[in-house]
Amino acid sequence: KKKKEAEDLESLNQRLQEIDPNGDEFTAFSELPLSQPTASGLEASHFKTLTDIQKKAIPLALKGSDILGAAKTGSGKTLAFLVPVLDNLYRRKWTDLDGLGALILSPTRELAIQIFEVLRKIGRYHTFSAGLVIGGKSLQEEQERLGRMNILVCTPGRMLQHMDQTAAFDIDNLQMLVLDEADRIMDMGFQGTVDAIVEHLPKLRQTLLFSATQTKKVSDLARLSLRDPEYVSVHEAA
Ligand code: ADP
Ligand code: MG
Repeated sequence: KKKKEAEDLESLNQRLQEIDPNGDEFTAFSELPLSQPTASGLEASHFKTLTDIQKKAIPLALKGSDILGAAKTGSGKTLAFLVPVLDNLYRRKWTDLDGLGALILSPTRELAIQIFEVLRKIGRYHTFSAGLVIGGKSLQEEQERLGRMNILVCTPGRMLQHMDQTAAFDIDNLQMLVLDEADRIMDMGFQGTVDAIVEHLPKLRQTLLFSATQTKKVSDLARLSLRDPEYVSVHEAA
């Protein structure tokens, strides 16, 4: 079984290297170089065809690029970051022992819950531990679970509270940061909070930033958190 897994990983990495970063050659999830657990989770959730933003963002994010993605509400941005989160950790053989691998920030509790539900659905065949950190429980109760999580979906205020107060909260290994609905994060006045969170994170990481609109505030946030990003946007047909 170990040998089979190693071969699968090698072939995934090989196929990823062969992806043309400028092409959007993938129409179906089944054509993408994805791990078996992710492919099965997408299939079981009845996701078959990629949306436009997914076509553009997923291959680049799988290859490790930072992404600044803009596409209107309802265009499928959630899978555009969740699929790379799952597979990039999988290809690094992430386990419980590796701690927090991906942090996903969302402006509101409701949106964080929605992301978490999609993560649970498409991530059902993975062995990662995933948690939702949106307040509403005691800080201590959340703290105890935090240390064991591989993927966290959280609101900015609550996350910073933990970073400042939870001594055992280890984020030195973090591989990926996702800022979802970045325009709303900024509109809600979370700039300072997000800046402070980013300061706590390892510099060497992959960052995916998604937004429904492209504003000055979003590009300010992008400048502070992204490194040499790929810009992907989907415009409505005129
Ligand atoms: P956004 O974050 O851009 O507003 P969502 O990620 O919330 O969009 O997706 C909007 C809706 O589209 C959701 O109901 C989601 O299940 C559906 N959806 C997303 N991607 C796909 C896809 N590839 N195929 C079919 N439905 C999809
Ligand atoms: Mg969204």
